[in-house]
Order: sequence, then structure tokens, then C-alpha cells
Amino acid sequence: MNTDQIIQPERRLVWFRSDLRIHDNPALFSACQPSDNGQPAEVIACFMRPEKQWQQHDWGSNKQRYTERCVLDLQQTLKSRNIPLLTLDVSDFAGQIHYLLKLCQVLSISQILACEEPELNERHRDAQLIASAGAIGIKCHFFNDQSLIPMGQLLKKDGTPYRVYSAFRKQCLNWLESHPVTTWPDATVNLSQQQPFIELNASEWPLWQPESHSADQIQQQWPASEQQLLQTLDRFCTEGIQQYDTARDYPADQTGTSKLSAALACGKLSVRSCWLAARQVQAVDPQYQQAASCWCDELLWREFYRHLLVLYPDLCKRQPFKPETRAIRWRHAPNDLKRWQQGKTGFPLVDAAMRQLIQTGWMHNRLRMLVAVFLSKYLLIDWREGEYWFMQHLIDADLASNNGGWQWAASTGTDAVPYFRLLSPYRQAERFDAEGKFIATFLPELADLPAKKRIKPDIGAILYPEPMTDLKKSRQLAMEEFKRLSN
Ligand SMILES: Cc1cc2nc3c(=O)[nH]c(=O)nc-3n(C[C@H](O)[C@H](O)[C@H](O)COP(=O)(O)OP(=O)(O)OC[C@H]3O[C@@H](n4cnc5c(N)ncnc54)[C@H](O)[C@@H]3O)c2cc1C
Repeated sequence: MNTDQIIQPERRLVWFRSDLRIHDNPALFSACQPSDNGQPAEVIACFMRPEKQWQQHDWGSNKQRYTERCVLDLQQTLKSRNIPLLTLDVSDFAGQIHYLLKLCQVLSISQILACEEPELNERHRDAQLIASAGAIGIKCHFFNDQSLIPMGQLLKKDGTPYRVYSAFRKQCLNWLESHPVTTWPDATVNLSQQQPFIELNASEWPLWQPESHSADQIQQQWPASEQQLLQTLDRFCTEGIQQYDTARDYPADQTGTSKLSAALACGKLSVRSCWLAARQVQAVDPQYQQAASCWCDELLWREFYRHLLVLYPDLCKRQPFKPETRAIRWRHAPNDLKRWQQGKTGFPLVDAAMRQLIQTGWMHNRLRMLVAVFLSKYLLIDWREGEYWFMQHLIDADLASNNGGWQWAASTGTDAVPYFRLLSPYRQAERFDAEGKFIATFLPELADLPAKKRIKPDIGAILYPEPMTDLKKSRQLAMEEFKRLSN
């Protein structure tokens, strides 16, 4: 036989970034399809850890470690499907491009496939990769993944972006009527029957082996296994979503919300799977129509902020959405900031929330709103300080949702809370933690007090700080500052 006539299978590289899963992954699915000539393709995968870039993007260790665990789980699953996942340490985005091109050359790869990311630097990097790879004959394919509707493509009739959530939501629902959400099948099982495991000579690469961080107390609380997370979604849709509309605002209720945000932020779960699971609940049991629809609305807030990030790239540059709010004279008050960060403001619900963040790497949504309003309005401290602190500590840290949430609370964003509507720490506690259960969990020094006193302890009666500010006066100060903008 003439060996010249043997056609080598086409080799494709799946570059995993924030889509760390095998189910419903459009890039992985497409890579596993046969070549145009009908021959099976060979699939290799990679993840490139850009640690320096992560730090520049304010990722704290909770988010970094969680990502690492998600990569490890992905590597193990892919291995069982005969797909090697090469994990490299590359410092920054420039390093990612350098090593991707090198991998393509050394391993004779003809295509790179990946899922899109909405952040500005990430999009610049991808554009640069397309140009550099194209120059040496390598094709790049990027797939919409992080949103139900391709990011940035849902526009008003006049071609401008939606700036108000309710109108955006309405149009999303219309769009989804005519473009029903579907998921991508897992094609790796078929592939593994055709492709023997490809051993790569790894000695020439800056290898990095992800760790399980099994001794880390925060990580222990957050599953990073794809299988487990799919089960969590399933369980939430059988036992939790049914009460979501009534339970979601009560931070002491452990099962009131899905706690899937970290998995969604890392792409360990897809938003399409979540959406379809909720729709399934509605189809099977109409009595849960409203509860499931309420959960879908939260997925659409996530969607809204992703679209905004793509359409208003200045949001990625620490700029407020409303330019006039650049003139706000935020207080430079490092000691006050520190008290807020450490949960020592003297307002129990705020402090319990800030301690929940430090102890668990997560905070309930109602409390995120409360502490963000507290910092940006009552303390009149720049929202970017809070945004940074959240990025440093949240296991689900995510630029689009975090920036969206902070600009909402600080009234600098589009469709934000009106500047004069402040959430009172006491009133919020009376409404959403009336028995002081949540407060007692994170402020054990108040646990022995009766509920009312947990919410508002007597000054000096116990070892707990006095309120750091007079709510009435500080509200007044914030109102004057915001009013000044409109004069
Ligand atoms: C100041 C502030 C900062 C925030 N920072 C982040 C962040 O860094 N990362 C993050 O994922 N979410 C952030 N959120 C949104 C929200 O608080 C979390 O997504 C939610 O608490 C996660 O818990 P869950 O998974 O149980 O949510 P569920 O209530 O079960 O909601 C399901 C999913 O919908 C999405 N979602 C829910 N609420 C919102 C919302 N208000 N905005 C955008 N998406 C939402 C999340 O992906 C969430 O996992 C922030 C909100 C505020 C007010």
C-alpha cells in the first residue's frame, strides 16, 4: 500500500475558557463532528491558566480555586472519553495566543474552537487570535454560549440597545418564542469509540496541573463536578423552584435559591440547561408557572447584564453607565470601608451578610443589594470599592453580573434603583429576617438575644459595635450629593 495515500484525520483543538463542561457545549460538540470528507476528526482540548490576567481582572482566590476544580473535573471526564485536556500556565492573554499558535503548529492542528466571552479584553484577545491564526492558515470558530440570545444582538426597532430591563425581558421572551432554546448533545461518547487516547509529548509546554483544594473550607461547600451540578439543578427543579417566588428573599432559607451562580459563572452549567429545566417544570405542573417564571426572570437579569457589557464596553473599564454620575464626590474613608468589609458596621444584617461573604464566598442576593446600597449611599463610598471587594471574595465573581448589581445599587447604572430609594438595614431585617435567624448564624455574639434585639441591639449592652453612622443624616448627605448632579 502506498502510505502517501493515507489521509491523516483532521486535528481540532477545543479551547476551554468559561465553558468548563461537556454537556451542552457548542464548541466541543462541533469539534467532535466528522470532517467534510466524512472522516472522524481528532479532538484535543486545552485550558490555559492566565494567572496574571486573572489578578488584573480582580479574580480572588475563591473564584480562581473554583475554576481550577472545575478544570480538574473536566480533565477527568474528557480523559474517560479519550480526549486529552492539556492544562498550561501562561500568565496572561498574550501568553494564551502564543501557546495556542505553538500548539497548532507542533500538533498539526487545523482549527481552534471556543465559546465566546462577553468581556472587552477577552473579545480583543479573540479578535487578535483570529487574525494571527488566520495568517498561518488556522481557522478559529467561536460560538455563542453564555446567553440565551447571542450577546449584543437583541436591539430595539431603531437599532439601539435596550436600557430598561422590563422592555428587554419582554423582547427576550418574544425572541425565545420564535427561537426556542435547545441544548447541544454530548458528542464525546461517540468520539471516544473512534479516537484512541492521544498521548501528547508534554515536556515542551509550561504544564500546570489543577488541584482539588479538598482541604479548603470554602471550596468544600461548592460542588465543582459537572455530574453533581446537573443533579443540583435537577433537585432544585423538583424541590426548590416551586417556592422560589416566595422563598427567594429570605436569606436564612438555605434552599430558597438555587446556589448555582458559581457553576453558571464558570460555565460548569449552561444557562440553556437551566432555562429548559425551568420551562419543563412549567410544562409539567402549571401551578408552578409563576414560581418558575420568577426564576427565569433572574436568568434574564443575568442575560441583560451580559448584553449590556457587550454593547457598552466602557462598563468593562470601571466607568459608570450614567456619565453624569462621574461627578459624584465619593467619600475617601478607608476606616469606614474597612468596617464595612469586615462586617463591623454595627448594623446586624449588613454585618451578617459581609461575614457570610468572607466565610462562605457567597452572599444572598437580597443582602448583596442591601450591603451595596449601604456602602454607596449611607457611607457614600465609591461603588467600585465594593465591586472590587466582591470580586475578591465571591466564588461566583462575574464581571457582568457584579458590575450590573453594583451600578444598580449605586444608581449609576441603567435601570438602577432610584437614588432616593434606600434600603434600610433595620427595615430589611424586619421584613426578611424577622426572627433574626440569619443574623444569629453569622453573628453568634447576638444569637442569645431575642429576635428584635438581634435586629437592633441596645447600644453598649453587648460586645457588638455601635452603629457606625446615623442613617437619617447619611441618607440626607447622599440625597444632596445626587441632587447636585441634576442641578
Ligand atoms: C451588588 C451585586 C453584586 C452581584 N454580583 C454577582 C456576581 O459577581 N456573580 C453573579 O453570578 N451574580 C451576582 N449578583 C447577582 C445575584 O446576587 C447572584 O447571582 C445570586 O445571588 C446567586 O445566587 P443563586 O445562584 O442562588 O441565584 P438564584 O436566585 O437561584 O438565580 C439563578 C441564577 O440567576 C442569575 N441571577 C440571579 N439574580 C441575578 C441578578 N440580580 N443579576 C444577575 N444574575 C442573576 C445567577 O446566575 C443565578 O445563579 C450580584 C448582585 C448584586 C446586587
